[in-house]
Amino acid sequence: MRNAILGGDSIDMESKVWLYMDIFGEDPWNEGYICPETNMLYPLSSGQESCTCCNPSVKTNLFYDRETLQSLFSTLEKKVWYQEQIAMWPDQKPIWFIWWWRSDIYSINTEKLWLSDPQLSELLASIKKKDPSFDLNDFYYFAEIGVEYASRWADIAGMLYRAQIEAITSQGNGNILVRTTKKTQKPYEWFLRMWYSSVFDYNDQQDRVILIKKYAVWNNDNE
Ligand SMILES: [Zn+2]
Repeated sequence: MRNAILGGDSIDMESKVWLYMDIFGEDPWNEGYICPETNMLYPLSSGQESCTCCNPSVKTNLFYDRETLQSLFSTLEKKVWYQEQIAMWPDQKPIWFIWWWRSDIYSINTEKLWLSDPQLSELLASIKKKDPSFDLNDFYYFAEIGVEYASRWADIAGMLYRAQIEAITSQGNGNILVRTTKKTQKPYEWFLRMWYSSVFDYNDQQDRVILIKKYAVWNNDNE
């Protein structure tokens, strides 16, 4: 039985890029290839170089290219709010998790959520209704749990997640906001089991959804 190891200092840029493509190129995201005509997505493993959605003579494009991802990671690593947590198998093969650092709703919308003004208003109203105490000016946003495709559902995500929650609640902030997909039920149901509340549906091809949760925080200030 293989046991994943939490930690590892970092992984090199090249491994990170391939891992990212591997993770998001497969189900449920299928951001492997994209039809330039319809924006239909095909998994990386399909090797789908011609689309089957509109016209067989239309060539699909790779959804991600290496240069774009390299530049994305270089940019992210310079941001104060960016943090990554890494897990590896004992053979050093990385299984990865990305983490966006402490932020506020307007910054994270610009950086990551990409909601229009009306959508953002809808989200704010929904959060206020579900949990009025949720701190929109100071929360943790974490992106998709990025676990290498072949290693999914071995509770790697759970292990990384628990380590992160322990780290952030010990720093006195328990507000978490996450965006995931309902396209396959597993990630979504996992968050619901962890008592997250669904606060926004994108109603897009990826069936993305935003959820929030507020953890209790250990506060030593009163001692
Ligand atoms: Zn097409």
